[in-house]
Amino acid sequence: MEGKKNISDVSTAFNKALDVIGVSEPSIAEHIRGELENQRSQLKLIASENYASPAVLLAMGNWFSDKYAEGTPGHRFYAGCEFVDKVETLASEHAKDLFKANYAYVQPHSGIDANLVAYWSILAHRVEAPFLNSHEKRHVNDLTNADWETLRQSLGNQRMIGMSLDAGGHLTHGFRPNISGKLFDQRSYGVDPETEMLDYASINTLAQEFRPLVIVAGYSAYPRKVNFAKMREIADSIGATFMVDMAHFAGLVAGKVFVDDFDPVANAHIVTSTTHKSLRGPRGGIVLSNESEMSEFIDKGCPMVLGGPLANVMAAKAVAFAEALEPEFEVYANEIVKNASALAEGIQKRGGRLVTGGTENHLVLVDVRDFGLTGRQAESALEAAGVVVNRNSIPFDPNGAWYTSGIRLGTPALTTLGMGETEMNEVADIICSTLKATEPKATSSGENSKAQYKLSDEVRDNNRRRAGDLLSQNPLYPDLHLL
Ligand code: PLP
Repeated sequence: MEGKKNISDVSTAFNKALDVIGVSEPSIAEHIRGELENQRSQLKLIASENYASPAVLLAMGNWFSDKYAEGTPGHRFYAGCEFVDKVETLASEHAKDLFKANYAYVQPHSGIDANLVAYWSILAHRVEAPFLNSHEKRHVNDLTNADWETLRQSLGNQRMIGMSLDAGGHLTHGFRPNISGKLFDQRSYGVDPETEMLDYASINTLAQEFRPLVIVAGYSAYPRKVNFAKMREIADSIGATFMVDMAHFAGLVAGKVFVDDFDPVANAHIVTSTTHKSLRGPRGGIVLSNESEMSEFIDKGCPMVLGGPLANVMAAKAVAFAEALEPEFEVYANEIVKNASALAEGIQKRGGRLVTGGTENHLVLVDVRDFGLTGRQAESALEAAGVVVNRNSIPFDPNGAWYTSGIRLGTPALTTLGMGETEMNEVADIICSTLKATEPKATSSGENSKAQYKLSDEVRDNNRRRAGDLLSQNPLYPDLHLL
């Protein structure tokens, strides 16, 4: 994972950087060291996390951070952007090559920001621009107050459908607490109660009845492939814009695991993503499109909904995309999926029930009710045993979004460390033996607590040691030795 070349200077680079930081604020240098130690001591199965390469990390820590660059390459609101332009152009070119997209916007600071840019550009393209044209005006400032009020009402009156939260959707896909739920009137599509998988016929029925402007696909916790070609057909049949949020599985798209009908970029009008999950870049977002008429609106993301671009992070995105363009990344993406299947099999073999009965991507959703636990208890007990996971809702979850009935496991990070199917079997054993040895504590009224748990010290310590063994055989940043 240190890249193609064996870079022996990695230790020097980070040690010197920490020395410099330590002169200004020694505590922060210490906390940076502490975080590495922490990350090296736990099996990371958080499906949305990964380990970026030293080159990606180092590209973020420099004077590009000091430069303002609102606008796009060659069209900035600030002078002196010669090198920011080169960086942003390269990041965008790499993203286009990687995802086979005609257009890539690399400024969003995160996945949520990328989604905001997408919503803004869809509304601008589908609602605002036609309104201005029909009123023969070029700019909203040219409208009368009455016409502006009509346009505002129309912008606020649009509809969207997205995947329900308990089926694995994301808060930014039109849910009321999020700004997207205030912008759009949203209805959710869920999964089939029997198979727990997407049912395209019922998505189609919802779309035909509700007739949304936007159909959103993409998820945070759905362990299966999505047929984006079918979703596009549904969108086309009602004239909706089809958007895919591939934040979680962008690495599987870049690594050509999801192709043809399962390739979001080939099938959607607009695609958003994070760059730091399975894609293994810096924390950030991107927006891609193959529709030529969308790009002029997406380009205005900053300053319409985004703050000034982070040139240092765009530099790190360019480095990460260059890494993902190497043939090794396809091997990595395929390994992520093989590892998730091996982990799923290992858990099922030991009596765990998986939502949908398996996995076709990087994540595995375990129903922990069969272990007599809530997701909250399972998450805490596993952390004590050296395994970091998220608790997560499962479809039709009886325990709600706080306690939950599931845990979500993801393989991108452990795969980066070089672990394979044998290690996944050991991880499955660590997880299942911990959960089997965990029990809910009783509350003062004698009922089972949904948060407190009991786990024997012996099982906890033994599994912590086994997790540590796996980590010492597959260390994080093996060439990095901090002084
Ligand atoms: N979209 C999806 C599907 C996600 O899973 C997430 C992160 O969890 C996001 C968007 C938000 O990404 P970020 O935290 O980078 O804003």
